[in-house]
Amino acid sequence: MSVRTRFAPSPTGFLHVGGARTALYSWLYARHNHGKFILRIEDTDVEREKEGAVDAILDSMKWLGMYWDEGPFYQTKRLERYNEVVDQLLASGQAYRCYCSEERLNALKAQQEKNKENFIYDRHCLHHLGHDPSLPHVVRLKSPQQGIAAWDDMIRGRIEFSNSEFDDFIIRRTDGWPTYNFCVVVDDIDMQMTHIIRAEEHINNTPKQIYVYRALGLEPPVFAHVSPILGDDGKKLSKRHGAANVMQYQEEGFLPEALRNYLVRLGWGHQDKEIFSLDEMISLFDINNVSNSPSAFNTEKLLWLNKHYIAAATAEHLLPDLQWQLQRLAISTEDGPPLERVVMLLKTRARTMKEMAEACRSYYGEYQCNNQETYQQLLASAHPTVFCEIYQRFSTINDWQSAEINQVIGDISKEFGTSLKDINMPLRLFILGAKDTPSLNDCLAVLGKEKTLNRLHAAIENMSCK
Ligand code: GLU
Repeated sequence: MSVRTRFAPSPTGFLHVGGARTALYSWLYARHNHGKFILRIEDTDVEREKEGAVDAILDSMKWLGMYWDEGPFYQTKRLERYNEVVDQLLASGQAYRCYCSEERLNALKAQQEKNKENFIYDRHCLHHLGHDPSLPHVVRLKSPQQGIAAWDDMIRGRIEFSNSEFDDFIIRRTDGWPTYNFCVVVDDIDMQMTHIIRAEEHINNTPKQIYVYRALGLEPPVFAHVSPILGDDGKKLSKRHGAANVMQYQEEGFLPEALRNYLVRLGWGHQDKEIFSLDEMISLFDINNVSNSPSAFNTEKLLWLNKHYIAAATAEHLLPDLQWQLQRLAISTEDGPPLERVVMLLKTRARTMKEMAEACRSYYGEYQCNNQETYQQLLASAHPTVFCEIYQRFSTINDWQSAEINQVIGDISKEFGTSLKDINMPLRLFILGAKDTPSLNDCLAVLGKEKTLNRLHAAIENMSCK
């Protein structure tokens, strides 16, 4: 039987990194086994649904390159089918109608609480059949009361629950809506799921879901429950830890391949390999090696990976992302060098595409300084004669290339007995407006002669005024 996995988010929020990693494992498992990956939107909790969440989830999946083969299927469009299965279970005697009033259930609950027992429905209506089905009622699944519900989890090994912990749970409410644990199973059966890879928080739902399979005379699929991702302080990942929603990572300037690589490694590994191309991930991924303990999110590691992917990418690959970031920062690239040249210059240093876009400010339009304090200090300590001489020699360079610029700076340093540091740092601030830049001569070569001279001239003017 060919492998079929799914990702089944509830649109109660955007796609979180924890959800994205679960989706990635499920997607990789399908791809590794040449199977199919299905996307299902579990949208029956209409009250908790967040506006825009479905689109955000779909966008995040696409951004991370996790394309689905079938779907998205929406649970709200399948109510008729769920009811059909409820009727089937009623007809086979695996489910029954329960007419117990709230008062009766509350009294039962109070009694059980007094005896320090968990609430278990006492099957009153199973033994007192003969009510009129047009009266308000719920439908309960006849669940096993003895023995165990057990499965061999692909991540966590053998898991067992005693059936006595569960009662005949409701599969259809009084308002006619089928319940969550029931819909999931009907969907997983209809969508022919072979492997259910989902978050650990669903472990407690699994026994109930197994009962539904059994009541329908079917074997449950294979389960794998993925551990959560925690913040680096060991607490549940939240907004306090920075970006938690996948699309926020795009806004922060992460490349999807970096985030994907980071997520796959968070809880899974292959020897001590850190960098995985998509093909490598697919061929090496092994769900049996996924860790069963929580993983801590480490932003520094993600930044390291992002820097790696930016440095390794071609300018062509980075351009669309960079242009998007530039637009968001309202940086125009009309007045300045071709953007490809700037990308080639900056890509070895930028940790994020946003940082790269910020650094582009040095090359376009009017001079802007991102460190006024240092600028003022350097202006005060600069020797105008040295910088006037640099200006003169720069103006005589015909072929404005990195090597020629470097030559001038080296000569001046020797002739004036000024250290390279005392020349380079002021030039960085005076011309590029920033302290941290790639090699100065390379930057000036890309910036162009005219802008270099104009900006240096303006700085010299400021020096001589003092
Ligand atoms: N809809 C559930 C969630 O978003 C997932 C259910 C499942 O995977 O079985 O957490």
